[in-house]
Amino acid sequence: MERGVRNEELGMRVPLPLAGAPAAFGSALRAPTSALVDTFGRRHNNLRVSVTDRCNLRCTYCMPEDVTFRDKSELLTFEELAAVVRVAAKLGVNKVRLTGGEPLMRKELHKLVRMLVAVPGIEDIGLTTNGVLLAEHARELFAAGLRRLNVSLDTLDEGRFFALARRAGLPQVLEGLAEAKRAGFAPIKVNAVAVRGFIEHDAVPLARYCRDHGFELRFIEYMPIGAEPWERDKCVPPSELLATVARAVGALVPANGDPSNPALEFAYADGRGTVGVIASVSRPFCRSCNRLRLTADGKLRNCLFALNETDVKGLLRPAVREADLADALRATVWAKWEGHEINAASFVKPDRTMHTIGG
Ligand code: SAM
Ligand code: SF4
Repeated sequence: MERGVRNEELGMRVPLPLAGAPAAFGSALRAPTSALVDTFGRRHNNLRVSVTDRCNLRCTYCMPEDVTFRDKSELLTFEELAAVVRVAAKLGVNKVRLTGGEPLMRKELHKLVRMLVAVPGIEDIGLTTNGVLLAEHARELFAAGLRRLNVSLDTLDEGRFFALARRAGLPQVLEGLAEAKRAGFAPIKVNAVAVRGFIEHDAVPLARYCRDHGFELRFIEYMPIGAEPWERDKCVPPSELLATVARAVGALVPANGDPSNPALEFAYADGRGTVGVIASVSRPFCRSCNRLRLTADGKLRNCLFALNETDVKGLLRPAVREADLADALRATVWAKWEGHEINAASFVKPDRTMHTIGG
């Protein structure tokens, strides 16, 4: 079978970039049996679990306005999600992040948190949320054992919030952040997608707000994974964002972080707070990528931009087939390509938009 996909923009079929083993080794290389390692030697310990494709916002960079969500019967149950995490943990996964869609749209999410906290080997569980429903769920999530929160917030201006999210909700997000802080969450990161035309107005107010409240601000470069046509010109270089913040809020110095952390981390010189940039487009971190994704409908993806995925729902229903699940996890990681190639002419945008993958 010919490997490749049709690229509508180029009007031609293009090969899949660098998936699987390097040609020089061919099929002589086999996935190891004990760990999630790919052919480039990257060890995967970080699993992103999407719990729903539903969302109460409609961010322009993420999903279309008219969207049909999956039927609940198509989504993995909490027991099924936990089964995948259990098997992944036996293969070395120790970090899990719950995401979506909007994960707090999934009823009783705290029950899943409680199940995952009990999985041997899982040391770190985080949640990425838009924060709209956070005020009502913060305490039950904290009580279930969740400690790390990423809250997506692109602006403190209600008009621009509506322009980006196509829905209102800023006061609820701010209340959610305040309640999460009162509940004891730490760290709380605020993630802002940097879209040219918006972030110029919002970078400084967001930086001041985060510094005042003890939240860690991170700018995320706008990626070609949403429904609207992506334009490179809408990406804002990290240097520009950092210079703007440093000028208006306070001098920044590089902060040494975990080398597998995709963010470029900076700290205010006076020690009061940090600012990071996740520059997936201008400074891809593929070389140290340790992430694997499970979609809400039961597909394993070895990259946000992957064009292939592995179905595991069939390995979970009617009963969990642990050995087959472990094989599927290993094979998915083993088949990972070298990098996403956003910057290459051969880049092909995946069929799924961000909300159906899990950011
Ligand atoms: N609904 C939750 C939220 O917004 O935090 C979780 C899912 S959302 C898909 C996860 C993250 O992806 C959010 O921080 C969001 O801003 C980010 N995101 C969505 N589309 C993006 C894009 N095209 N480029 C960069 N980041 C994007
Ligand atoms: Fe919803 Fe998050 Fe996508 Fe915005 S980024 S539409 S909040 S899933």
